[in-house]
Amino acid sequence: MTPIQEPSFRESVDIMFNRAVALMDLPPGLEEKIRVCNATYTVRFGVRLRGQIQTFTGYRSVHSEHMEPVKGGIRYSMGVNQDEVEALAALMTYKCALVEAPFGGSKGGLCIDPREYDEHELELITRRFAYELVKRDLIHPSQNVPAPDMGTGEREMAWIADQYARMNTTDINSKACVTGKPLNAGGIAGRVEATGRGVQYALQEFFRYPEDIAKAGLDGTLDGKRVVVQGLGNVGFHAAKFLSEEDGSKIVAVIERDGGIYDPNGINIEELRAWLAKHGGVKGYPHGQYAEDGSTLLEVECDILIPAALEGVINLGNAAQIQAPLIIEAANGPVTAGADEILREKGCVIIPDMYANAGGVTVSYFEWVKNLSHIRFGRMQRRQEEARHQLVVDELEELAASTGNGWKLSPGFKDKYLKGAGELELVRSGLDDTMRIAYQSMRAVWHNRDDVTDLRTAAYLVAIDKVASSYRAKGL
Ligand code: GLU
Repeated sequence: MTPIQEPSFRESVDIMFNRAVALMDLPPGLEEKIRVCNATYTVRFGVRLRGQIQTFTGYRSVHSEHMEPVKGGIRYSMGVNQDEVEALAALMTYKCALVEAPFGGSKGGLCIDPREYDEHELELITRRFAYELVKRDLIHPSQNVPAPDMGTGEREMAWIADQYARMNTTDINSKACVTGKPLNAGGIAGRVEATGRGVQYALQEFFRYPEDIAKAGLDGTLDGKRVVVQGLGNVGFHAAKFLSEEDGSKIVAVIERDGGIYDPNGINIEELRAWLAKHGGVKGYPHGQYAEDGSTLLEVECDILIPAALEGVINLGNAAQIQAPLIIEAANGPVTAGADEILREKGCVIIPDMYANAGGVTVSYFEWVKNLSHIRFGRMQRRQEEARHQLVVDELEELAASTGNGWKLSPGFKDKYLKGAGELELVRSGLDDTMRIAYQSMRAVWHNRDDVTDLRTAAYLVAIDKVASSYRAKGL
């Protein structure tokens, strides 16, 4: 539990913002203009369910409109409140600026436990919530574009898109009103796993710089690194799966709602996820040790800690006990401002949320562009690219035959080289590029400025500078 003396989530974000902005030279007043949340709309609406009217409370907060549309997910959780959506909307502003997704920041939420309702009920509730937001242009392809977040996914996004289309029958761009849709409803390949993939790409980029690895007191590569993951939802699951299957990292602990599993030999993530889906929790999983109080596993010895669930899980109550030398914030706001200070003093390196989980909004950006251009990425160039590659392969093979010295193309080369990039390959390439460039912009500040000693402050400096330039360009 978060100790009482901690500031709220929004205050925590503001503290981090203020630390960074104190190192900048912004025109008077601009700092406050950037920090404050422009508007938060609260809606209470009724839906007739199970023979009676139930009232729900939802929010859509717009933090900054320096670029439009504004962007950010819609969360379904009992913890949703105004402070939380405003903190999350602010993080969206900085996140989009950092990864150069051309959006302002927004976030929405509905105070609901989605597990309490069946699919049909959730559809009624979602459509009614969407109706309220569409009516006020808080869902709109050129003004405000939601996406999935905790408790929502493709299914909810498809309902929202359809609700918008019903209310805007002549809008040719209606599909661009929301991202994270299923592929058959205007979605894009690779969006579901995008945030987890982004976490993997962020770590891969971090491990390309020996000086950065050394700052965390680590060495080598991701291969063999012991990883603790908190939350096996969409983000935590994909990050853990890719890191263990593709980079050789060992997932030694997974923490879920009902406890945690610890196995120093490494957990099979697909298997544990299947168990979780079937049994609703990790308890009883036949491998590793079960810990009823999962939060104790945040404190085990490991190389990388990935909080991928709720905000505030690393706080004044446990920060001093955290042993991980490297934390990557796959969730939004998992480390409170107070904990951040303790961890920084201990020398722990934190790859901050606004960068680490930006893979989701990055691929959302690609989806939005796809929807506006009404064409799948790769459709025009793929076969042309393959034909040109075929020319090279034919030429090489002819050359090899004419030399007569037995020279051959390496096995597998031909297949790999001949295959033109489809949408998924292009999305991955765009995401990888985005994560690399954003990391490089942060690390340049981290390494070049004596007064910046952590990646979070560096990230804020880069992001705030970009937002400030937008305001300047507007003449504000
Ligand atoms: N909800 C995700 C986030 O917090 C994705 C937002 C989006 O794609 O707009 O970044």
